[in-house]
Amino acid sequence: MSLLAVGTVAFDDIETPKGRAEGVVGGACTYISLAASYFTAPVRIVSVVGDDFPEDALEHLRGRGVDLEGLQIKQGEKSFFWAGRYHSNFNSRDTLDTQLNVLADFNPILPESYRHSEYLMLGNLVPALQMRVLDQLAHRPKLVVLDTMNFWMDIAMDDLKAVLGKVDVLTINDEEARQLSEEHSLLKAAQVIHEMGPKTLIIKKGEHGALLFHQGEIFFAPALPLAEVIDPTGAGDTFAGGFIGWLAKTDDLSFANIKRAVIYGSAMASFCVEAFSIERLKTLTPAMIQTRVRQFADLVHFQL
Ligand code: AMP
Repeated sequence: MSLLAVGTVAFDDIETPKGRAEGVVGGACTYISLAASYFTAPVRIVSVVGDDFPEDALEHLRGRGVDLEGLQIKQGEKSFFWAGRYHSNFNSRDTLDTQLNVLADFNPILPESYRHSEYLMLGNLVPALQMRVLDQLAHRPKLVVLDTMNFWMDIAMDDLKAVLGKVDVLTINDEEARQLSEEHSLLKAAQVIHEMGPKTLIIKKGEHGALLFHQGEIFFAPALPLAEVIDPTGAGDTFAGGFIGWLAKTDDLSFANIKRAVIYGSAMASFCVEAFSIERLKTLTPAMIQTRVRQFADLVHFQL
């Protein structure tokens, strides 16, 4: 099934307890499309970069079958830039810098061939722009997933609530779920967020896994215990790409399959954190992904 992904394509400066990486490829849309490309085709992206963005990174995405027709390249302008520093536990981070650059006056325009996409991933981006993408589709996709972050809750809460009213699934981390719902209990937060629109909610808890809330049912997926975490940047986006990629591949929106999608998302995220930037995601094979999904099944399997 066709998948349309929207979000940032960016440069990042990252500092983790394991080291630093400067001017590396990042952005929500980059991670989403790369992760999803292991499951479904075509993966189409809508985003914007400046003329400073490396051609080899774009070539890699093309090589993975990602359709870049909707990627605008602005001559003489700079790509979106984000800098972050992780705390010693890797689970929390400080944003040191966000430079919107090309994003400041970005107008997402869907090429004609994109307007009939069946699955839509609204990756982390200005909420009003997420809405503009939704408005350009010829018909409502089978599934709309939205990811966002506290940055947009702080500066564009009304726009965020408007777009939340139109999506099926929201993925956010636990702190953001509390900020959005003004509830500390994640159970209560889920109820409040369901009322805002999304019938399905995934709350990501970093190395503590992810919780899925769906029509009164709850499912928990752990994160795989890893020998070494290098850089958590993009783990949430990679999770989202694996999650929606699996659903687009299987075209099955039953609760049982949504649970499977959470595991595929978690497996992809577990690869992402093993190296800086998108480096680890470049090196995967379907067999490696399958082995890791099996490790998840073994990790949580028990008999009553
Ligand atoms: P994650 O670790 O999943 O939250 O994703 C980190 C990625 O999101 C980085 O590669 C950044 O370039 C990108 N990013 C950081 N801040 C923002 C923002 N405010 N809007 C959109 N993308 C962002």
